[in-house]
Amino acid sequence: MSLEIENLNLHYRRRQVLHGISFSLEPGDFCALLGPNGSGKSTLTKAVLGLAPISNGSVKLAGEDLLGLSRRDRAKRIAYVPQSSPVPFDLRVYDAVMLGRSPYVGIRFNEEDHATACAAIDKLGLAALADRYVNELSGGQQQRVMIARALAQGTRVMLLDEPTSALDLRYQVETMRLVRDFTRSGGIALMAVHDLNHAARYCNRAVIIAEGRLVSDGPPQAVFNADILSQVFDLQVDVSTQDGITTVRPVEDEDVLETSSFRHAVRQFHQLSA
Ligand code: ADP
Ligand code: MG
Repeated sequence: MSLEIENLNLHYRRRQVLHGISFSLEPGDFCALLGPNGSGKSTLTKAVLGLAPISNGSVKLAGEDLLGLSRRDRAKRIAYVPQSSPVPFDLRVYDAVMLGRSPYVGIRFNEEDHATACAAIDKLGLAALADRYVNELSGGQQQRVMIARALAQGTRVMLLDEPTSALDLRYQVETMRLVRDFTRSGGIALMAVHDLNHAARYCNRAVIIAEGRLVSDGPPQAVFNADILSQVFDLQVDVSTQDGITTVRPVEDEDVLETSSFRHAVRQFHQLSA
């Protein structure tokens, strides 16, 4: 059941935003989608979901053309956590999560829908908030509701657009673990994320895009190359691996100055004037 994204091109008006993006994901893949602001991560995610019309290309799941399916059928196959935005509905947490079950519902929700939604609510630590109105929650709590709703959809593929951006450290880690568990049990996840260290730690794949083009694709250890990252993010970074954990950190002026002749000159100046 692979998810095959092939030669996706997309224009907004006349501006080309995605240029021939191709990669495919297999069951078990937890893939980080990385790139600077405006590089096309959200657009790519929406294109895969059929929410942004592509100029050409295809998206296939287990050989089936996803973009040719009805919205309802697509929602049985792929769940989506959109980039955080004010939640557009005036619903209680429980009902918002139940919306994830709507692709399956005939006339009304059944016991299984209820049990699935409750399990998702529990997983996201939302049980105590189940009766609260979503639009009265904090940004991070709302984000957890959106993740629970996607989980309740019971799909084998999840696309998540910066789902951890408003979360505190604990829920960032819990979300990364939750998605990793989802992929370890045979799911496929593609997650736009800015925290490179989380990506390196929890993902087994990383795809980097810049200006709508695929720059790099592979395991994080291979993709997280200081030269590539520095160029893509237009910021000098240092990449190191210790005990199998890759860490990316920006290089600060002091790191450079410490050894530079400039620093040496400053020291000499201070000695002279002391
Ligand atoms: P990212 O998620 O990587 O920050 P986006 O996919 O949101 O980037 O945006 C990619 C590019 O497409 C940007 O230049 C952005 O301005 C443009 N863009 C995004 N959405 C629209 C839209 N609805 N109409 C026109 N241009 C858009
Ligand atoms: Mg985005």
